[in-house]
Amino acid sequence: MGLYTSLVSNLVFPLHERLKRHDTVAVRRSMEEAQWWSPERLAAFQLQRLQALLREVGLHVPYYRDLFAKIGFDSDQVRSTTDLQRLPFLTKSVIRANTEALKHTQAQGLARFNTGGQHLSFWVLSQRFLPPIGIVLPKDQAGELKRHTQTFIDRLGLGASEAEISRGHKIRFRRGNERIVDGNVLLAGDAAGLADEFTQEGIYYAIESGRIAARNVLRASAGGGDLASYQAEINAQVMPELKAARLIGFMFHGMLHRAARAWMFASDHTPFLWNAFFAVQRGESTYAREVARVPLLPRIAERMLKDS
Ligand SMILES: Cc1cc2nc3c(=O)[nH]c(=O)nc-3n(C[C@H](O)[C@H](O)[C@H](O)COP(=O)(O)OP(=O)(O)OC[C@H]3O[C@@H](n4cnc5c(N)ncnc54)[C@H](O)[C@@H]3O)c2cc1C
Repeated sequence: MGLYTSLVSNLVFPLHERLKRHDTVAVRRSMEEAQWWSPERLAAFQLQRLQALLREVGLHVPYYRDLFAKIGFDSDQVRSTTDLQRLPFLTKSVIRANTEALKHTQAQGLARFNTGGQHLSFWVLSQRFLPPIGIVLPKDQAGELKRHTQTFIDRLGLGASEAEISRGHKIRFRRGNERIVDGNVLLAGDAAGLADEFTQEGIYYAIESGRIAARNVLRASAGGGDLASYQAEINAQVMPELKAARLIGFMFHGMLHRAARAWMFASDHTPFLWNAFFAVQRGESTYAREVARVPLLPRIAERMLKDS
């Protein structure tokens, strides 16, 4: 840790937090300790915290006090998060109808915050009950994101529905031999910019780079070299596919941008392109293999993409 970082993290930040009466430093310390606990100890700790929270709301939040009494819910009997399924979902209409009863009886200085006319919600609920809708735009059109998303939602026939969360997310792509290892720190997935520039997807690469990282950590901790080998392995095993995806994306989106109608017509009449794409999606081929089949265009594109 450099002098500046050490000064800020050990002196300035703790002092700042203490003056503001925040317990951030203590929370961080306990999280740093807890990350090394065994899965059993972590599960026991989570259960204990969950029971404490349920006990607290059962005693001091009128809505939950009444609800627990009505359905015979005993927080001390909770053994896992599955037991929470006995509780009804906290929908927007329930919150609206019970705004006062949802306040802790000892809460002080409550202030109302609205989020631009939208209500806050938790992803756990959103993912289970609301369809997540996303669109991808090039960087230079970021200002149009909301408008285009709304158009898309309207097109899906969902225009009358209210959005729970509306959020933009910048996808970063790794270029060249960008550093993804620093001492004991390895970047994987989105943090390393390992996403497919054609489809903008990254789950597969996040998992794959996570696996490669884990293998390297195990090897290094068993005395088999340092972690620099992680970057070399990513370069050899992941980057060729991402570079091929970049070439395809560059050609596909570039054509779409310049001559949308002609390109859509052409792509409609060139089924082998789509067949190749679906073969990659099904895991039967790779972008790199498909690009290698068509030598001319990718070569030209590669020359135009100097930093790939
Ligand atoms: C709307 C949308 C749709 C997408 N659809 C697809 C798709 O269909 N298919 C696909 O392959 N990819 C898709 N992607 C991309 C994909 O989600 C990402 O590439 C992938 O999730 C990256 O995984 P990750 O583990 O690197 O990062 P993430 O999944 O982002 O995980 C990072 C985690 O770290 C947590 N975190 C961040 N900071 C801190 C901190 N300081 N302390 C503790 N935790 C922290 C975050 O909360 C998060 O849980 C989509 C992305 C978006 C935004």
